[in-house]
Amino acid sequence: MATLGNRRSTAEVIEKYHFSFQKKFGQNFLVDNGILDKIIGSAQITKEDCVLEIGPGIGTMTQRLAEEAREVVAVEIDRNLIPVLEDTLSVYENVTVIQADILKLDLNRLVEEHNGGRPIKVVANLPYYITTPIIMALFEKHVPLQSITIMVQKEVADRMQVGPGTKDYGALSLAVQYYARPEIVTRVPAACFMPKPNVDSTVIRLIRYEKPPVEAEDEAWLFAVIRASFNQRRKTLVNGLTNAGYPGIGRQQVEEVLSAMGLPMTIRGETLTLEQFTELSNRLLAVQRKAG
Ligand code: SAM
Repeated sequence: MATLGNRRSTAEVIEKYHFSFQKKFGQNFLVDNGILDKIIGSAQITKEDCVLEIGPGIGTMTQRLAEEAREVVAVEIDRNLIPVLEDTLSVYENVTVIQADILKLDLNRLVEEHNGGRPIKVVANLPYYITTPIIMALFEKHVPLQSITIMVQKEVADRMQVGPGTKDYGALSLAVQYYARPEIVTRVPAACFMPKPNVDSTVIRLIRYEKPPVEAEDEAWLFAVIRASFNQRRKTLVNGLTNAGYPGIGRQQVEEVLSAMGLPMTIRGETLTLEQFTELSNRLLAVQRKAG
């Protein structure tokens, strides 16, 4: 079958099925085989792998994944794309298409069913409106995975890999860097998609750490502290954490912990490293446990 990763083949499929693009689903299909090659190459897929593709669209990347992997599970929300995928993927026996909203699926169960609970690889040209919730869900729910190779909006990729003190640094940067090592694969101009989006994109690969680089006593609490610290970006850390209203943690307790860490009372969340956030959350946890 002719590859779909070009403008003409994609237009033919769209025409054949009278498909209309749905903006609400972030539908911008990749029409550049060179970029596809880079995504597939960097994802390092072998015949042992089970790959989860989020949002297969008309199956452009799915076909390539099916050639490389043992098994591909592709989750697509748009019912109108299911007959298209049945057609474009008809020659592949190792692809399962699931019509569902990825955010509502039990992904741990999916990995259990399709890969006996062993780590999968995630590859996706993500709909931009759900990039952060998908990544957070994959990590925070501890879905067994080796790596995530994804196309995201350029600015989001920047946020994932920056360190403290920059305007892009925030809860997403810290979450990604706690769970994985981010690696930029390639920049992708808007012209590589149909229809052309308003923003440029970046392919980024997140390689899951076997063990996080820091030791948080309570991971969920670490992220609660991080979120509270960035909730009110222009506020000091003391105000952000006090206003969060966690039981046993008032202004005085926050100030005592900051002082024990040798940090000024005027400090803002965006200047703290992952190591400092971990120490802060471990110390606040100790205060909370002592209080109650
Ligand atoms: N993979 C295709 C490609 O590279 O050409 C399509 C990428 S397009 C940017 C995003 C795809 O994700 C669309 O097919 C869209 O319908 C699908 N999608 C959007 N929201 C989704 C969700 N919540 N769950 C599953 N798929 C979703």
